[in-house]
Amino acid sequence: MDTYDYVIVGGGTAGCVLANRLTATGSDSVCMLEAGPEDRYLWIHIPIGYGKTMFHPVYNWGFETDPDPGMDGRRIYWPRGRGLGGSSSINGLIYVRGQPEDYDRWALAGNRGWGWRDVLPYFIRSEGNERGASATHGDDGPLRCSDIADRHELIEAIIAGANELGVPRTDDFNGGVQEGVGYYQLFTHKGWRCSTADGYLKPARGRRNLAVETDAHATRVLLDGARATGVEFRRGGASRRVTARREVILAAGALQSPQLLLLSGIGPAPQLQSFGIPVVRDLPGVGENLQDHLQLRLIYRCTKPITTNDDLASWWRSMKIGADWLFRRKGPLAIGINQGGLFTRVMPHSATPDIQFHFATLSADLAGAKPHPFSGFTMSVCQLRPTSRGQVRLASPDPLAAPSMQPRYLSTDEDRSYAVAALRYARKLAATRALAPYIAGEFRPGATAQSDDELLAFARAWGATIFHPSGTCRMGGDPMAVVDDRLRVRGVEALRVVDCSIMPTLVSGNTNAPVVMIAEKASDMIVEDARS
Ligand SMILES: Cc1cc2nc3c(=O)[nH]c(=O)nc-3n(C[C@H](O)[C@H](O)[C@H](O)COP(=O)(O)OP(=O)(O)OC[C@H]3O[C@@H](n4cnc5c(N)ncnc54)[C@H](O)[C@@H]3O)c2cc1C
Repeated sequence: MDTYDYVIVGGGTAGCVLANRLTATGSDSVCMLEAGPEDRYLWIHIPIGYGKTMFHPVYNWGFETDPDPGMDGRRIYWPRGRGLGGSSSINGLIYVRGQPEDYDRWALAGNRGWGWRDVLPYFIRSEGNERGASATHGDDGPLRCSDIADRHELIEAIIAGANELGVPRTDDFNGGVQEGVGYYQLFTHKGWRCSTADGYLKPARGRRNLAVETDAHATRVLLDGARATGVEFRRGGASRRVTARREVILAAGALQSPQLLLLSGIGPAPQLQSFGIPVVRDLPGVGENLQDHLQLRLIYRCTKPITTNDDLASWWRSMKIGADWLFRRKGPLAIGINQGGLFTRVMPHSATPDIQFHFATLSADLAGAKPHPFSGFTMSVCQLRPTSRGQVRLASPDPLAAPSMQPRYLSTDEDRSYAVAALRYARKLAATRALAPYIAGEFRPGATAQSDDELLAFARAWGATIFHPSGTCRMGGDPMAVVDDRLRVRGVEALRVVDCSIMPTLVSGNTNAPVVMIAEKASDMIVEDARS
């Protein structure tokens, strides 16, 4: 049995950050267990490969939710990255931090040290922005981010249309004021994806105090009474153990960190007992508080053959975009799918943006699926601070089985009102002078959806995840909280959770940069706590 100071479970977004930071001084040893493989697949690294990894059986867990009553009983496809870099290896590369108010809300709820002023230094420390450093940005951090080099006629028309509606153009959604319309920055460097495996793990890989075990599926946390002492994992059918002198850190993501706690006897006692798992610590909040952004995708037929659908349908245009990437590291291959963004308000009571758009110059039935055989583009809109709450539970005591996931999308009046308001706003945008000339027709929802009920029916029939499940090991000080504000599992010694699951409330935007910030901050807390 091997022994290390720290054992990290999950070599994903947060795991790779922790592996780097905790081994930096050379004094502590770390073992990181990752269920998936090394990130050797070429399409992980070329930004447009998003489409290739979206349904990949090896690099993607390819989960499905339970039938969701709010979504016509549909199971919603929930991709999650599998392998080094985790979801940062397969995500849409969009760099958004959320709003300062998101973090101030966490602090106001009693989480000391998580207000915007506290977390901003960690966003800056992590950031390697090609634009250079400023009061709010960093340029030498491991997480590289870049501008989209090319301007697209369609995105320019959308920006001009949003200007007509009073939304100003911005070139920085992360500078403190989020409201605006413009191009996203991406987690790319010179045309290649920058996952946390690229940015954080690769530079640390040669350190003698870091062991990275891939194809190592953790099956439970080993406990001595209420103290975590190590992790049991499975590789190639054999069960093995690794011991942690100081701490075990779960970074398996918002779906599998709560699953591991439950498998280890930490969670709601009635649920554990129903699966015959001895209760180590009755923590009723494990797996609760599941939140996600629901994306509603409006698809338009374009009047001009200028969309990525057209590029991919033509062999010579495909050759050209291939050559563009090969020789200039530019063009559609250097971009994930979405290029344009817009944050604005649709509810009179909102003091800050309450909806976000992702604009893609292509269209498909599902994000990442085969493009439509016509010139099409997508305006995907989501409510930024949903009030619906779901949960993750065990589906079986088998640690290799997927957990049960129930998002309960659209289960509150507020979220249903937002769905309708957001769709109406999107149509207003489509009808602007600047954009209307590019629209040959609305393919989806389509002209028959006009009343509130019809729009809501569209949301239920076609709504999908925008891939941000979080909150299932919520940070806080109340009985339903799972970790405290130093991310220690309440009532268990030497065990932390550091990933998307600790968010008390979902941030107003994409979640990759916030998870990196969480892991950066956690690494400082872990080192400080060890010293004291
Ligand atoms: C398709 C997609 C598109 C997205 N697009 C964007 C975007 O454009 N911008 C953005 O900001 N965010 C985006 N996100 C969200 C963002 O990437 C995630 O919120 C973030 O990466 C989550 O980080 P994490 O560390 O919590 O989990 P992950 O990065 O998912 O890491 C968890 C890791 O743990 C491993 N693991 C799980 N269980 C076990 C086990 N039992 N034993 C060992 N290892 C285990 C997994 O294989 C994985 O590597 C997207 C996500 C997806 C899936």
